[in-house]
Amino acid sequence: MALLINDDCTACDACVPVCPNEAITAGSPIYVIDAVKCTECVGAHDDPQCIDVCPADCIVPDPNNAESKDQLLAKYKSLHGE
Ligand code: SF4
Ligand code: SF4
Repeated sequence: MALLINDDCTACDACVPVCPNEAITAGSPIYVIDAVKCTECVGAHDDPQCIDVCPADCIVPDPNNAESKDQLLAKYKSLHGE
């Protein structure tokens, strides 16, 4: 499933450059993950890179966007023209 950023976000910007899908943007006041683009890093990395770098532990699974690993991989390939 895609991930989402909760209200504990401090807008530190650490997560934006590590996302392989350019799924994270600065919102107001907290940052936002585009569920259409987030693959939980499936296709690019073993673990969600944004969670690894987030100092606020505010990135969590989005219960409204449940997807299987196969669906996430298909999404990644579609996003990257594979
Ligand atoms: S889990 Fe990966 S693809 Fe999803 S927002 Fe985080 S860094 Fe981007
Ligand atoms: S790394 Fe965490 S605290 Fe920093 S902008 Fe991203 S979600 Fe917010």
